[in-house]
Amino acid sequence: MTNSRIESFHPPQRTLMGPGPSDVNPRILEALSRPTIGHLDPEFISMMDEVKDLLRYAFQTNNEVTMPISAPGSAGMETCFTNLVEPGDKVIICRNGVFGSRMLENVERCGGEAIMVDDPWGRAVDLEKVEAALKTNPDVRILAFVHAETSTGAISDAQAITKLAHDNDCITIVDTVTSLGGVPVKVDEWELDAVYSGTQKCLSCIPGLSPVTFNDRAMEKIKNRKTKCQSWFLDVSLMLGYWDGGGKRAYHHTAPINPLYGLHEALVLLHDEGLENAWARHRLHHNALKAGFEALGLELVVPEAERLPQLNAVSIPDGVEDAVVRKQLLDAYNLEIGAGLGESAGKLWRIGLMGYSAKRDNVLYCLSALEAILGDLGSSTPRGKAVEAASGVYKKQ
Ligand SMILES: *Cc1c(COP(=O)(O)O)cnc(C)c1O
Repeated sequence: MTNSRIESFHPPQRTLMGPGPSDVNPRILEALSRPTIGHLDPEFISMMDEVKDLLRYAFQTNNEVTMPISAPGSAGMETCFTNLVEPGDKVIICRNGVFGSRMLENVERCGGEAIMVDDPWGRAVDLEKVEAALKTNPDVRILAFVHAETSTGAISDAQAITKLAHDNDCITIVDTVTSLGGVPVKVDEWELDAVYSGTQKCLSCIPGLSPVTFNDRAMEKIKNRKTKCQSWFLDVSLMLGYWDGGGKRAYHHTAPINPLYGLHEALVLLHDEGLENAWARHRLHHNALKAGFEALGLELVVPEAERLPQLNAVSIPDGVEDAVVRKQLLDAYNLEIGAGLGESAGKLWRIGLMGYSAKRDNVLYCLSALEAILGDLGSSTPRGKAVEAASGVYKKQ
């Protein structure tokens, strides 16, 4: 040990406007600090039942199998793939950003064979390419795609992709990590089969949990597996003994008690606000932020019709150094925005308006900070224009 005495850790108070985690509502932080009780305590079990019901509301589903996995969004992804993909299975993966490549990794590690349908970064999944891939690979039974690509801010048509998959006898695995709570995700109406999400994006909870929901088609495929699920921990049929024991729940693993209090509170907040209102709020603040970016001469990367309100990718102006601006935002403003991932590193910023972060204070703060920093770096935008443009959008409300 280099230090003779290490003291309690006190993080700085940041404003989180990156690709997640987003700002956590203080009510959730308070819920996390409530007394820890046993994970089979009857009081805890009735809270778990409420979490499942509230998740059904968030996902707009009546699926019996709806629960949070005790690990982050990546584990929700892995839960879907390890339970549904058996060795030798062919899987079509739509890739239009970073997370499609993660799906490829998952399929290969399950011993499956991936067929990639690639689209340019920053664009939605192209339905014609999906249809062509389904037609040329009639032996495929699973199709996976990302509803909201956090690496670029593009949204794809989950309902239309799933319809194509079903018309060709395939079930879908859908990543809704960034979409849930920010834009419509209608699991039952759109007939999505195996769906996973995360807690630290538009649900504004702490990271570390991953809600999933499986419909009967997905559960049927799981029940008819010829081989055991490769993962003991993520095996849905074992997990259900704990999450759905019908009154007599069996120990599977110790649930993350306090994080689940946090998720419960986050879902109560979402339910009280109402999904439609949450979607409209993300849209409103996106419109204000966009007006500010336009005043600053910052260009949004994704075409309007394919743009997510909660994740705004903008091109970094010529001559401006990515890391310098982000460091100043963090050091001088305690404001975190996201860098480009993979092939867009250094080329764009990703500015998140997720959950509790989707509010007027954050929009105006981010615009004025960027305006000041870019002004110092020689931008010709007159000071105050970006905030004025965003305020104009709010005034029209
Ligand atoms: C954040 C994210 C994930 C991974 O979630 P973690 O909680 O970081 O494991 C997966 N898919 C998408 C689209 C994401 O945005």
